[in-house]
Amino acid sequence: MSDQHLYGSCLCGGVRYKAALPVFHASHCYCTMCQKQHGAAAGSYANVARAGLVIESGPELVTEYASSEDGRRSFCRVCGSTLFWHSTQSPHRIAITLGTLEPEYDGPVERELYSDTKPAWLPHGG
Ligand SMILES: [Zn+2]
Ligand SMILES: [Zn+2]
Repeated sequence: MSDQHLYGSCLCGGVRYKAALPVFHASHCYCTMCQKQHGAAAGSYANVARAGLVIESGPELVTEYASSEDGRRSFCRVCGSTLFWHSTQSPHRIAITLGTLEPEYDGPVERELYSDTKPAWLPHGG
């Protein structure tokens, strides 16, 4: 492959980033904090190496919220797009949000996290 990166941007386009492959795993997280922050059923993430993440434009717009003792959630302060999640306990990994990727993420999503708080209003197949 000629380009071993994923590319993403926020809704307003102020923040653009690239992340070096590989993706270690991708997941839909149904924890209630992800639901609140994303305003959605889940936070959908791909885990990549922290060292391979480059904010190509708008680094000053990326704002970090400490949602727990270890959890750090980054978003664009202009448009509110959720961008990254990382744990201070795992400084070498960072999770990038699948919904901000362009082109669309086409890899597998192996995991569903916190399925016990998966909302009942999600469509159930069919
Ligand atoms: Zn933005
Ligand atoms: Zn979560």
